[in-house]
Amino acid sequence: MLSGTIPNFAPVATFVINIHGRVQGVGFRPFIYRLAVRNELKGWVENRTDGVRIKINAEPDQAVRFVRAIREEKPPASHIVEIISKEDSAEDFSDFRILKSENSGEEITQVSPDIALCKDCLEDMKTQSHRLDYPFINCTNCGPRFTIIRDLPYDREKTSMKPFRMCERCRAEYTEILDRRFHAQPVACSLCGPEYKLHCKKEVISDFDQIIRTSAELIREGKILAIKGMGGYFLACDAQNEKAVDRLRLAKNRDGKPFAVMFRNMDSLKEFLHMQKPEEDILQSWRRPILLAKKKKSLASGVSVGFSTTGAMLPYMPLHYLLFEKLELPAIVLTSGNISEEPIIIDDKKALEVLGPFSDAVLTYNREIHNRTDDSVTTYVNGRERLLRRSRGYVPEPFIVSNKVEGILATGAELVNCFSLGRNRQAIMSQHIGDLKNLETLEFYRESIGRFKKLFQFNAELIAHDLHPDYLSTRWAKEQNIKLLGIQHHHAHIASCMAEHGLDEKVIGVAMDGVGYGDDGKIWGGEFLLCDYAGYERKLHFEYIPMPGGDAATKNPWRMLLGYLYHYQKEDLQLDQFEVLQSIAPDQSQLVLDMLRKDINSPLTSSAGRLFDAVSALLGLCTTASFHAEAPMKLESAAAKNINDSYSFTIAEDISFKETFTAIIADLNRGMDKGIISAKFHNTLINTIFAAAKKISLESGINKVALSGGTFQNRYLLEGVETKLSENGYKVFSQEKIPANDGGLALGQLMIAAEKRRLACV
Ligand code: ZN
Ligand code: ZN
Ligand code: FE
Repeated sequence: MLSGTIPNFAPVATFVINIHGRVQGVGFRPFIYRLAVRNELKGWVENRTDGVRIKINAEPDQAVRFVRAIREEKPPASHIVEIISKEDSAEDFSDFRILKSENSGEEITQVSPDIALCKDCLEDMKTQSHRLDYPFINCTNCGPRFTIIRDLPYDREKTSMKPFRMCERCRAEYTEILDRRFHAQPVACSLCGPEYKLHCKKEVISDFDQIIRTSAELIREGKILAIKGMGGYFLACDAQNEKAVDRLRLAKNRDGKPFAVMFRNMDSLKEFLHMQKPEEDILQSWRRPILLAKKKKSLASGVSVGFSTTGAMLPYMPLHYLLFEKLELPAIVLTSGNISEEPIIIDDKKALEVLGPFSDAVLTYNREIHNRTDDSVTTYVNGRERLLRRSRGYVPEPFIVSNKVEGILATGAELVNCFSLGRNRQAIMSQHIGDLKNLETLEFYRESIGRFKKLFQFNAELIAHDLHPDYLSTRWAKEQNIKLLGIQHHHAHIASCMAEHGLDEKVIGVAMDGVGYGDDGKIWGGEFLLCDYAGYERKLHFEYIPMPGGDAATKNPWRMLLGYLYHYQKEDLQLDQFEVLQSIAPDQSQLVLDMLRKDINSPLTSSAGRLFDAVSALLGLCTTASFHAEAPMKLESAAAKNINDSYSFTIAEDISFKETFTAIIADLNRGMDKGIISAKFHNTLINTIFAAAKKISLESGINKVALSGGTFQNRYLLEGVETKLSENGYKVFSQEKIPANDGGLALGQLMIAAEKRRLACV
């Protein structure tokens, strides 16, 4: 302010407004600029490490209105955690500016997740002459982000848009601060942007109108199409065509795993699936995940065999909308373009080689996918969204934590891998990586760690890894020549849940899980811990049961059933008593029984997942699993509604289900409906968890209970446990934004490592 000048109108005050949340890389500063100009406010806006800061000259009521407008009109992909507005020392501004940020930490939060096509662009696609039906239309509020970024700062040159020179019209939009495409890095039009090509068996089609017609025709005729999507290739076919779906299943080598389905719109979706309002909101959000929803009307039976839910999503790329315009069908299968457990294909040449032979056409485009991301998978249980696979639309959004996690790299688990980097108080979780035992996935893991390090300017000082010595993530950690810290699997699961809820105190941790290495060398998974980040006490656990053949028992639930039966009945066990074992070759079951008798290759486990396996096999729902967690998922799907009965169990030194098994066998012999038995079993588990938590609470005086581990993906179980505990006065915490399965493990590893490092420093 110039001293000595006499204002010729009533002096206005100066306000400083700090906004925290997801406000970077989502068009927030141009939005503020436009809003300020519209309201004739002067001042500036800048990005800061912790969000966005604004200063304005305004009357107090003007400032209030401005803040209200920020809240009401904010860009769709932004999320405001808080806005703090207060009067500041007087300054006099002559215009409104976007300040160039000199903050070195700015880059950390600038990588936005990919954003689904916005409403305005959908409209522009029908009205802007240079973008009529143009399938790569985008703006500051929508379009690819993480999938195309190579390096920082986030600038077109550093993305896979680099080869595309903007035409004059695009450049004008890109440089005009009042335009919705101001600094939208992937801005493009039909003149200057990327293009699709359709590789049919005999010809390659380049004309987009013809491409979209032919693609629709092929799908309508029951053919399979490989389509390059946002984070990788996908395979598509008519979701109501039995033959096409079966053919796709065969080609993908995917025995029983359900396919995800894209519906043309919400109306079509509601015809086939039951929807609650919050589920609709999740499906329509800019993240556009796959949501597991309850079936109402059948699609082709091969879409999800033996399950009560279907994974559904809505269009999120311009191409999806354009395709459905030409396609009268209500839904298409849209499953990741890979074979078995390999990572989703992103390379065009590989797509033609691998997907080409069994697809009737390959729809590709000439912009590179730099960071592979699968579709994210989420569900809505007990009034809250629960993420099951965190990838497109969510990654790499950092997760704010209460401890300083700077410099820590958490390597995750093995089967459903996801790693995490600590920057300051942010946990940056990688996209879903997958099963590291697959060689290509391991390569994707190594490559992604390298990319995240570069993107987030990260230097690892400490690596936190799982205690399992044979996990490939552990082995990778040991090759790094950096200080290591091994972290118990279930401790990490609970810490992940605690971190999500900002808990930093002792809690009762209930980890219901598949398998995790225990500190006694046994395989844990039905665990009751008393823990904080610094450490844990194992208070109770499911009793140890032999797992005949180790990993082979996980793939063959009937083996686990034999493990349980032998454990309880020993030499009284008569295999021919069990109808379900008739389907197993007698020499096979005899061999497994011998293994158990002689205690050969039968590691002990307290796993909850394996308990579900055994019961699922006992009911004949799944004796051999064609994919991970098939048996527990089938058991859950079978559970009847409104059953209150349950079985007995015993809690002593450990928790035994001997009485449960005896009663289930009696119910089976009585011919009881399997749905009722499944429900009774689920109720038993709910009662067990409640009783165990109560016991620990009485001893310790602690009444906060954190639930985590892959078994809590079971809706029946999660809902039942949460309800029962909270009705009895416990404070219950469960995973929402971070998966309860091993995909959320790295967050817990990060938190525990940070705390152990802090304590060592003290
Ligand atoms: Zn847009
Ligand atoms: Zn252009
Ligand atoms: Fe686990």
